[in-house]
Amino acid sequence: MSKKKKKEKVEINWKTAYDLWQERKNIKRLETKTPIDELIGGGIEEGEVVEFYGEFGVGKSQISFTLATRVAGELGEDVVFIDCESTFKPERIIEIAKARGLDPEKTLQKIHLIQPISADEQMEAIDQIPKNIKPKLIVVDGVTTLFRAEYIGRENLAERQGLLRQFLKKLLTYVRTNKIYGVVTNQVYGNPESSPFLPLELRELAVGGHSLYHAIDNRIFIRKAQHGTRIARLVDSSRYPPAERPFVITEKGIESKQEE
Ligand code: ATP
Ligand code: MG
Repeated sequence: MSKKKKKEKVEINWKTAYDLWQERKNIKRLETKTPIDELIGGGIEEGEVVEFYGEFGVGKSQISFTLATRVAGELGEDVVFIDCESTFKPERIIEIAKARGLDPEKTLQKIHLIQPISADEQMEAIDQIPKNIKPKLIVVDGVTTLFRAEYIGRENLAERQGLLRQFLKKLLTYVRTNKIYGVVTNQVYGNPESSPFLPLELRELAVGGHSLYHAIDNRIFIRKAQHGTRIARLVDSSRYPPAERPFVITEKGIESKQEE
């Protein structure tokens, strides 16, 4: 017997670019109230996932904590925080909340945390967000870490990339259908074709490569500069010009660098 099913008719909705422009006028943005906003048109668009990538200690988790505190504490909305590196510290959220004049306990109560210890758990996390939690922000801190730890070597690369793509598709679908904001952070690896003449964002590439590029709208590379300053650089956006903004890590999380 043939396995071929009768193909169901798929409805296609055509619209003009003008219609899309009108629809997009109502799109909301999460102003992060950090220099990041200036790179991406004023804030993260609803339905969009932004990636922050860079070397260890550069401030990726600090960005995640700052945005979680902003949404949970300042906006009073639920946040889902998937901490794939088990580095989330409530004490740091309390510090950021206090420095911003927010209620630390209320802030913590709005952050729904999962700390997956395997790629399988990470994969399930989004499917198993309890129905009574309606997050406005979902953060995945260290999105490639568990996949990288479990799928080692070239022979496992294809499987790793496939699973990573699946995870990102789940995340993107969740963020788009619920019209919420998405943030992922990611580590870097040394580009094997590097040369000292390349800019740093081409010498250090985000783990996961093209699996991520296709799922993520805006990608921001973070690097260290002098005296503790960090530089955020928008890389290969389909909408915004390349630009850089400095920021610092303080008791308030991440914030603009004060002019000296
Ligand atoms: P990894 O790849 O290892 O996860 P990361 O990019 O997530 O690294 P973070 O942990 O976000 O790095 O940032 C570490 C940096 O943040 C350190 O330079 C540290 O000095 C700074 N930092 C951490 N806590 C505070 C704080 N309470 N006040 C000011 N700076 C802090
Ligand atoms: Mg981190």
